[in-house]
Amino acid sequence: MRAIRIHETGGPEVMRYEEVALAEPGPGQVRVKVAATGLNYIETYQRTGLYQVPLPFTPGGEFAGTVDALGPDVSGWSVGDRVATASGAGGYAEYALAPADKLVAVPEGIDLSQAAAVMLQGMTAHYLVYSTYPLKAGDTCLIHAAAGGVGLLLTQIASRAGARVIGTAGTAEKAELARAAGASEVILYRDEAFPPRVRELTGGRGVDVVYDSVGKDTWDGSLDCLRPRGMMVSFGNASGPVPPVSPLTLSAKGSIFLTRPTLWHYIATPEELAWRAGDLFSWIASGELGVRVDRSFATADAPAAHIAIQSRATAGKVLLVP
Ligand code: NDP
Repeated sequence: MRAIRIHETGGPEVMRYEEVALAEPGPGQVRVKVAATGLNYIETYQRTGLYQVPLPFTPGGEFAGTVDALGPDVSGWSVGDRVATASGAGGYAEYALAPADKLVAVPEGIDLSQAAAVMLQGMTAHYLVYSTYPLKAGDTCLIHAAAGGVGLLLTQIASRAGARVIGTAGTAEKAELARAAGASEVILYRDEAFPPRVRELTGGRGVDVVYDSVGKDTWDGSLDCLRPRGMMVSFGNASGPVPPVSPLTLSAKGSIFLTRPTLWHYIATPEELAWRAGDLFSWIASGELGVRVDRSFATADAPAAHIAIQSRATAGKVLLVP
């Protein structure tokens, strides 16, 4: 089969589409014939070496497709089942492996591309809204990159929970998408300093929670947007990692709370995985949650796909199709 392989860390050009042996599923694993793979920022961090992965490797944790082979002792799945996962391995390929207990069944009515587009970013938006800082009606949140992959889903889910969403976006077109997703105000943070604007929009109080996926460039400003005892949720590094923080900063900014969550700790049990994926699929089926696929690339063109997301050119999801 053909797969993207990374033999050394570096720029997008280190990803090469090569012929590799078809892996046999081990104990507890399922092999999936990939229909679509979701592109995620984490793969850019793995490619550059910011997050270390043993070399060589094929990136891609999020994909949807049909079960092709079962490892020893695997029960509950059959060849041909339509499945999706955010916790697989080697998804930039025609076939990929996933732990059997990290697969979810894709219901009829949801196509496999939609499933691949929503597993990782959608479950992230779900845990941020329901578990990290459970939003309730009357809360106000600040969502950076509100027209991004996570951003558009997070904005919709936070609004659906009754919160007022203030978003940030890089362009007027992206701001429009964020508004359509439910943001009541969107700040063009490349043109205007966002902290004073957030203070103004909240009558000086500040927001209850900041969901910050941008990292280095927005960190200081985000802390200045919180109300006393508000929560800073730093969940990504699109502009680079946040430098080390002194606990005294949290005190000076209003006894604020800081968390740096990651999806894996929020889908660790079968119950949490089923809850989050089940909610997403039912909201998509009922039309309550829109999934915007910005564009799809052939898996062989993964380098161009990485360039697209890293150059801030996309709004919503990017898929790879074998
Ligand atoms: P996006 O589609 O949101 O792309 C990143 C966006 O960030 C860009 O479109 C851009 O939006 C904004 N941005 C601001 N500054 C920069 C910069 N210097 N370089 C590039 N982009 C910038 O990506 P994802 O939704 O896939 O992921 C967003 C972040 O969330 C990533 O850091 C990712 O790792 C993280 N994440 C974390 C998870 C977790 O569980 N902790 C799970 C999933 C994702 P604009 O043009 O509007 O500024």
